[in-house]
Amino acid sequence: MKKHNFGAGPCILPKEVFTKASQAIIDFDNSGLSILEISHRSEAFVNVMERARSLALELLGLKNKGYHALFLQGGASFQFVMVAYNLLEKKAGYLNTGRWAHNAIKEARNFGEVFELASSANKNYNYIPEIKTIPTDLDYIHLTSNNTVVGTQMQSFPETNVPLVIDMSSDIYSRNIDYTAFDLIYAGAQKNIGPAGTTLVIVKEELLGKVSRTIPSMLDYQVLIDKKSMFNTPPVFSVYTSMLNLEWLKNQGGIQAIEKQNKAKAELLYAEIDRNPLFEATVPYKKDRSMMNATFKIKNSDLESRFAELANEAGVHGIKGHRSVGGYRASMYNALPLSSVEVLVSVMQELEKLS
Ligand SMILES: *Cc1c(COP(=O)(O)O)cnc(C)c1O
Repeated sequence: MKKHNFGAGPCILPKEVFTKASQAIIDFDNSGLSILEISHRSEAFVNVMERARSLALELLGLKNKGYHALFLQGGASFQFVMVAYNLLEKKAGYLNTGRWAHNAIKEARNFGEVFELASSANKNYNYIPEIKTIPTDLDYIHLTSNNTVVGTQMQSFPETNVPLVIDMSSDIYSRNIDYTAFDLIYAGAQKNIGPAGTTLVIVKEELLGKVSRTIPSMLDYQVLIDKKSMFNTPPVFSVYTSMLNLEWLKNQGGIQAIEKQNKAKAELLYAEIDRNPLFEATVPYKKDRSMMNATFKIKNSDLESRFAELANEAGVHGIKGHRSVGGYRASMYNALPLSSVEVLVSVMQELEKLS
């Protein structure tokens, strides 16, 4: 039976990416060897890494602009540590918009002072708080573009001379914004880039070399840039599959084309959440709602088991909300087709008819 995978991460990838990736496990590029057994120093794999790094920048419009792309390990959570290790000398500003932002703040406090620019913790993070003032003595500002757990997304970014660092784990490559506004972008691959096991870091080289502490090689962005993201054995299969997915995105017409589809999917689902009297959106302010992770609730909890049955019968998978929010969360990453959202909407309408 066809499944419609709304999982928040690890998440759906295009079918053709799964097919090509699985072929490469058996026989990589007709070499008679698996992608899993060749040397990461072989020409074939070095080409994969270079193609992945190049596509990562190209699709964001960041080629030849002083940026480097790295495919690292340790997840986005490890970047909470690395960012502070490499950039925090005295004081950094953090926008507290959700669980992940909160975790980033916690890690940064080990390295220096954290100034909370604004917070939406008072309402379980169901809105994007406004930054009123930005102190001038910050080493950097840290933002989270899309808050995967509660389903909010930033629509605008502070205009400031302070360097901007941004966790884009759950919306990178999903929308057409000015990526040159940021000095460091990071994203765990498993939401919109590829499989779990690698994290994309895009960093402007001029940002580095300004802290006085000694940085261990494995944590030092400069070392990792100098070694072309191959300081040690990289996660070869995750990087290869990410490369395939970035190629897929390029063939779709890049971010501009995918953004149109992402908008259509989100508009369709939110329209039903707002129209259908049985449901309500978790994020009340429309402008703060995420195009990637739509969160909603059933007003009458007696209907939840019926909804679960109907969803299951239709092949709808992965819509259970995060345990800290409850309700439902439909994640609509790049590879999810509009037709899957149509199925979810029809399940919501069926529930309305039956009740
Ligand atoms: C999932 C997620 C993370 C954590 O990613 P890991 O790779 O599991 O460490 C961090 N930030 C955001 C915005 C996320 O969605």
